[in-house]
Amino acid sequence: MEKVVIIGSGCAGLTAAIYAARASLSPLVLEGREPGGQLTTTTLVENFPGFVDGIDGPALIMNMKAQAQRFGARFEYALVEDLEPADGFVRVKVDGNWLETRTLIVASGASARYMGLPRERELVGHGLTSCATCDGAFYRNVPVCVVGGGDSACEEAIFLTRFASKVYLIHRRDTLRASKVMAQRALSHEKIVPVWESVISEYLTDEAGEMRAVRLCNVKTGGMTEMEVKCVFSAIGHTPNTKPFQGKLDIDAEGYLIQHKGTATNIPGVFAAGDVADHVYRQAITSAGQGCAAALDAERYLADFE
Ligand code: NAP
Repeated sequence: MEKVVIIGSGCAGLTAAIYAARASLSPLVLEGREPGGQLTTTTLVENFPGFVDGIDGPALIMNMKAQAQRFGARFEYALVEDLEPADGFVRVKVDGNWLETRTLIVASGASARYMGLPRERELVGHGLTSCATCDGAFYRNVPVCVVGGGDSACEEAIFLTRFASKVYLIHRRDTLRASKVMAQRALSHEKIVPVWESVISEYLTDEAGEMRAVRLCNVKTGGMTEMEVKCVFSAIGHTPNTKPFQGKLDIDAEGYLIQHKGTATNIPGVFAAGDVADHVYRQAITSAGQGCAAALDAERYLADFE
């Protein structure tokens, strides 16, 4: 019987692991499909307190993991498929096997969303991606586009200017949702060209199946145009990773876990933290804060229980 199992190894999961490990609870972290979470696909993080000159996203995550390990947190690369409440504990199905734990912290985060157009699955890796840090360097001296109008879209577009000849920023409205500083940085960059009030209606590929262009639809006029791009970077937000918990944990209309009191979910001993339960703030620091809160809630639950 485990004392604390943590699902997810992003900011929330790792902070929960640091706190639970320091409380001598020897947490087991199930790393999930995207170990390290969203910060592993970003570059410089400038707004995490304590780093005057910013810190690289992957470095921040590696530091958090090492910090958790120093206090005895254990890590396994494993995928969670199901969970069910039992008498005083929770059963979690992991890669086909059930494990038992007194408390569970769900910090499974959120995954990048795509536009929902035909052939999307087969195009990922062939000119369609959601990670400029991972794939940007493949597209040197060619035009690319980023879809979205938030901080992620601006950040991706700015990063891509290091490689691409031109970065089209395709947004469905005529103003960006991004913070002022990010929007200004993106719009003032000579390589970034905003394409307002437009959405992609079709991906166009070459004989080898690689992206060669997109068909754009102007949402105001309905007019269609073709734009030559070698890669489309999707930055239209994220979907919370709550699939394995459907029908077990309370989930809101947008798919996020519902926290009832503090980080507690509807199942006793199960707590939620980070982007899987937050569609308002979604920052590295708020996720870390929630991970801390969930570990403290789990610790108190265990103390009451014993
Ligand atoms: P977001 O703020 O939710 O922005 C998503 C963007 O995609 C919006 O502009 C939205 O358009 C557009 N969009 C959504 N669905 C679409 C669709 N089907 N087709 C076309 N466009 C679509 O997501 P985000 O940019 O990933 O940011 C998430 C959170 O992380 C935010 O709180 C942000 O501040 C934070 N973040 C911070 C930083 C930083 O501070 N360095 C970096 C990245 C992210 P509408 O505007 O019309 O809704």
